Amino acid sequence: MTGIVYKSTGSWYTVKTELGHVYECRIKGKFRIKGIKSTNPIAVGDIVDFELESGNDMISGIINHIHDRKNYIVRRSVNLSKQTHIIAANLDQVFLMITINNPPTLTSFIDRFLVTAEAYSIKAILLFNKMDTYDEETLLEVKYLAHLYRNIGYECIAVSAKTGKNIEQVKALMKGKVSMFSGHSGVGKSTLVNAIEPSLDLKTKEISSLHMQGQHTTTFAEMFDISFGAKIIDTPGIKGFGVVDMDNEEVGDYFPEIFRLKQDCKFNNCLHIQEPQCAVKKALDHDQLAYSRYRSYLQILEGEDDTYRTDNWEKA
Ligand code: GDP
Ligand code: ZN
Repeated sequence: MTGIVYKSTGSWYTVKTELGHVYECRIKGKFRIKGIKSTNPIAVGDIVDFELESGNDMISGIINHIHDRKNYIVRRSVNLSKQTHIIAANLDQVFLMITINNPPTLTSFIDRFLVTAEAYSIKAILLFNKMDTYDEETLLEVKYLAHLYRNIGYECIAVSAKTGKNIEQVKALMKGKVSMFSGHSGVGKSTLVNAIEPSLDLKTKEISSLHMQGQHTTTFAEMFDISFGAKIIDTPGIKGFGVVDMDNEEVGDYFPEIFRLKQDCKFNNCLHIQEPQCAVKKALDHDQLAYSRYRSYLQILEGEDDTYRTDNWEKA
């Protein structure tokens, strides 16, 4: 039988078949996927094959095969520095929720997020939330940012989780897909998900109790079916979007507009810093590349973005 992993709590995996039957499954033998040093071999969103076995008057499954992943997101294991924990696999899209103030979402945070999404090959959509609260000046800022990111190729939607503004548009995008919602604490993720599906009470709330902080808190992602034929992956306590290690020469490839410009740089290994005849610097000088994007690019290149490291988002 084949199904999707909806939940994993250590050694047991909740797997749902296409017919909607749910089985608790375990793994047989060692599962090592080449190229990934991860503490968990199977993650939420994985498509697995399993066989049923019955014992002790309960039927459970034995997973014997994982289908190839379209993508997956990881985070570093807290204690084992070299190892990673796969948070979820096979995501279709991730919505980044942004508020201009209360709390502020900085462009450096947005860009770091988008770079990570590009590196993971996951489509990112920007949701500007709390539109019902903005004064004219702040509205201009939303317009400016939406224009900036739309020009690069990212879909941007201005929403209000509170009033329901453009929520139908978000639902339409979610239909038939696996989505995840990210963004700073307080931007309105839980409110939006509740507006989308009131019966779902997601634990998107951060782990707030003090005694949990700094400890090895294992948070488990979970997939939920939404009534209109969509799936959400909830990652309680995980604010960020995993970590990706990349070479300096790769960074520009994850800024789509820089990637496009790069073709016209004199040197094909141009890092767009001081090199002569650099198409990226030229575009910057002619206002064809947003300065905030270039600044984010440099920050990631120079590793100066520690405050925006996804490891820290989890604590933010
Ligand atoms: P989360 O931490 O991202 O899950 O954020 P919450 O959903 O808990 O929202 C944080 C606060 O913002 C709550 O007090 C919500 O009522 C409020 N909020 C969320 N969305 C909106 C919105 O669109 N408009 C307004 N005015 N408040 C909102
Ligand atoms: Zn260049």
